[in-house]
Amino acid sequence: MNLDDTGEHSGVAVDHSRTVLTPQLAALLGDANVLTGATSRRFYAQDVHGSGVLPLAVVRPGSVEELAAAVQLVTAAGAAVVARGGGMSYTDGYLPISENTVTFDTTRLNRIVEINPRDRYVTVECGVTWKALAEALAPHALRTPYWGPLSGLRATVGGALSQGSIFLGSGLHGPVQESLLALEVVLADGSLLKTGGAALAQGVPFFRHFGPDLSSLFTGDCGAFGIKVRATLRLIPAPAESCYLSFSLAEAEAVFARHATELERLGIDHGFLSCTVGGNGVLVEPCIYWPDARQAFHETVLDPAYLAKLPVFAENLPARQVVAQLRGELADLFAASGAASFQIGKLYRYRASLDAGTLAMLDALKRQLDPRGLMNPGVLGFAAPTV
Ligand SMILES: Cc1cc2nc3c(=O)[nH]c(=O)nc-3n(C[C@H](O)[C@H](O)[C@H](O)COP(=O)(O)OP(=O)(O)OC[C@H]3O[C@@H](n4cnc5c(N)ncnc54)[C@H](O)[C@@H]3O)c2cc1C
Repeated sequence: MNLDDTGEHSGVAVDHSRTVLTPQLAALLGDANVLTGATSRRFYAQDVHGSGVLPLAVVRPGSVEELAAAVQLVTAAGAAVVARGGGMSYTDGYLPISENTVTFDTTRLNRIVEINPRDRYVTVECGVTWKALAEALAPHALRTPYWGPLSGLRATVGGALSQGSIFLGSGLHGPVQESLLALEVVLADGSLLKTGGAALAQGVPFFRHFGPDLSSLFTGDCGAFGIKVRATLRLIPAPAESCYLSFSLAEAEAVFARHATELERLGIDHGFLSCTVGGNGVLVEPCIYWPDARQAFHETVLDPAYLAKLPVFAENLPARQVVAQLRGELADLFAASGAASFQIGKLYRYRASLDAGTLAMLDALKRQLDPRGLMNPGVLGFAAPTV
């Protein structure tokens, strides 16, 4: 791996953050939980598909209180905060757009806080994986209605809620939001906001809708509005059996057909993943495959024994360009078809798809929640700070 970081230093703000903020974070979280080495920073600047700017540090808070205090320190210093769960997305959602960024790895917030079979809910810290949650519920013969994406070995409850995840259980129960009862979110100033059932001063979070529900504001926000730290999900009896169907989409095939010659020449292949969603929706997700060099992300995340079986390819920039073009055309097609996208990140045409009044309200909310634009800048198409 090339760890040449020359040219990374970009200005007074970054130098200040490096010399003042990073030691403050280390004092708060412990040296082992503040990663500043080039290898770590490079890894955290990559998702399954691409790379962003290297953050100045990566922090791994071990409790909600630590995370809130660290957010407060980072934004008070004028640096950006980016949450990363299992890192299993591929739409640039947690890729920093400026070096003056601290990435928050939430995977140490992995406690199952409460399983309540009587009132049928489970409260977890948002860095828990779907696998760990399913394993914790199995002895109770209970399940969350939505019980995770295909990437749930590593993907977290917080990541799924931030992207409107769909898959296991979606056929009957819809996207992850529909299993949600309550959230606790750390806002840009480090304060903790409770939504849905968690907002009740007394009692248990068995029900989400009591007056206006603030939970929806934070689901599918890709981390633009805050960092989710605790979530409460509904429980149902584990069903005896599950069934699956598959679909294809002619208009999406046409996008690939338009580029058939280049795809053939560059060895780019594709398929589609699909599933029903809540009885009135169908997920169609294009999957694109091409020969290319491995990134630090793949070397780190994949099991070495599995990786050893895979062929090694040279860097393939022409193929990457065509893939970027395909992804853009598919995003345009979905927007033009009136589709709702999840895992929006910086890829899907969220702003361009919205009604003008809704967009104005969202912009006003973003300004209210994050006046300096420091909470995951660029994601959902919210502008980066102008400083
Ligand atoms: C092999 C594979 C299979 C997949 N299968 C599916 C599937 O079946 N269904 C599906 O929907 N997706 C799928 N995905 C995409 C992705 O894994 C899921 O969307 C997953 O839910 C992401 O969770 P994560 O914890 O990895 O989030 P990350 O990738 O770490 O982050 C995703 C986004 O959420 C934000 N974020 C993460 N945690 C928090 C938090 N606690 N608070 C605020 N913001 C946060 C990040 O900033 C980023 O914008 C798949 C990916 C792969 C590689």
